[in-house]
Amino acid sequence: MKKTRLVLVLVLFVLLFSFVPIEVTAQNSAQVCGPDGDISTMLAQITQTSVEKWLRDFSGENSVLINGVPRTIKTRYSHQLFVNNPNAMAYDYLHQELLKLGYVEDVTLTDHSYNYPKSNVLTEEILIQPDDELSYLETEQSISSQLSMPQAISPDDKAVWKNKIVTIPGHGPNADKFVLMTAHLDSTSNAANTLAPGAEDNGSGVSALMEAAYWLRFYKFDYTIKLIFFTGEEQRLEGSAAYVANHPEEMGKILGVVNLDMFGYDNDQDMCIELHVGEMASSNIVGTCFTDVNNNYNLGLSHDYITTGAIWASDHASFWNAGVGAIEILENMDAHPASNPAYGCGGRKDENPHYHRITDTIDKMYMPATFATVKAGVGTVASLANPMGKCFGGDPVLKATTQEESVLLTWQALAGAETYNVYRGTATCQGAMTQIAQVTTNSFEDTNIQFDRNYFYKIEAVDNETVCRSQLSNCAIAKVPTPQEPVEMFDLFLPLVIAGQ
Ligand SMILES: [Zn+2]
Repeated sequence: MKKTRLVLVLVLFVLLFSFVPIEVTAQNSAQVCGPDGDISTMLAQITQTSVEKWLRDFSGENSVLINGVPRTIKTRYSHQLFVNNPNAMAYDYLHQELLKLGYVEDVTLTDHSYNYPKSNVLTEEILIQPDDELSYLETEQSISSQLSMPQAISPDDKAVWKNKIVTIPGHGPNADKFVLMTAHLDSTSNAANTLAPGAEDNGSGVSALMEAAYWLRFYKFDYTIKLIFFTGEEQRLEGSAAYVANHPEEMGKILGVVNLDMFGYDNDQDMCIELHVGEMASSNIVGTCFTDVNNNYNLGLSHDYITTGAIWASDHASFWNAGVGAIEILENMDAHPASNPAYGCGGRKDENPHYHRITDTIDKMYMPATFATVKAGVGTVASLANPMGKCFGGDPVLKATTQEESVLLTWQALAGAETYNVYRGTATCQGAMTQIAQVTTNSFEDTNIQFDRNYFYKIEAVDNETVCRSQLSNCAIAKVPTPQEPVEMFDLFLPLVIAGQ
């Protein structure tokens, strides 16, 4: 009797707590994403230098090589991205860099094409010039009040714009479901056709996705992860709206979307950002995971956790419209009252005055805040996707043995590895290395050597289909001495003949 009563009390307790709305207790609810050793190791390896490099590359601070030609990405305005403008080759650069990471064209690296504008009627909204310096919301208002004489647009007159998608296939029972990490690639400004650096908006989000594209390759995840670089965001979210409209079957299979749009401006250096979570329980799971990741890995951010009154003016809203859980990670744009415990920015706001201007450059940003937010974003996606360890259980251990006229590289085969890439350098273990072979065995003989010269080797194991790969092995060093036996004239001349070819 007593036992039964105790059980009843327990059941009542469980029922009581399971009915407490998650939204209300978001700040204090149980963790959605617990600490994970692999994620901890991964986040510790991301460097601020690398994040900064992507930011500089995409916002025109760095000259970058695109298909071997030096270019500066001066604008990422969607109207310029797909018209062979040599100063707007961000989409080409993105594609090239993702190929370098091992993503395979038309398999794990795909384009989603859509027609711009979506509307078949030419409105004033579509005709708005960037020089008008109207914000998205102001534009909306001006349309409703000033629109007159709409004209029809023929489908032939529409532009073809593209979103870039990286797919990291899942390995677990939820491999047919998705976790999405999104950021808009495009930018705008008061002179968008020629100059729109968009360092914070949204070079910050692009750099986060590039770090994700690099680091997530080394781990297996239960869910399939998609990294989506949207375009047309600055034109009423048309890229993400088209993606959602064209993938209806996918929408019911998305666990959550982490949309990174514009962070890293932190003039007061308080490390406080805004999480726009909205009011759906499915979005709250993503938002709570983000706060868990920040706490679990001591990333040092605080935030306004915004449910009612969340911003709709970025790509996460396209998913909200389809009932899919999503959050936007944003700078501390607006003040929210410190009296509400959900708002952690102390009532402060810290809005970038260079927003949508040619002055949105990296020097205005605070890199520690940018860096911490990138790590939190990557960590949230990795946590939601349910990590299942390193790709092959570990990384290869490489041994180099000198032979008479070659170097023999050997390693223990890793279960599940399909091929091994062999890299060689001639300066140091840390110096530049080039790939010299791709083999399916667990050894490689390097015969293309000079005597008395140091060679530095590393290998990586790869499963090509899923892009899953080990990190680079240890560095093995070898130097083959000049053979000691008497040198005959033939041996002396043969290398010269080969070298002269
Ligand atoms: Zn933006």
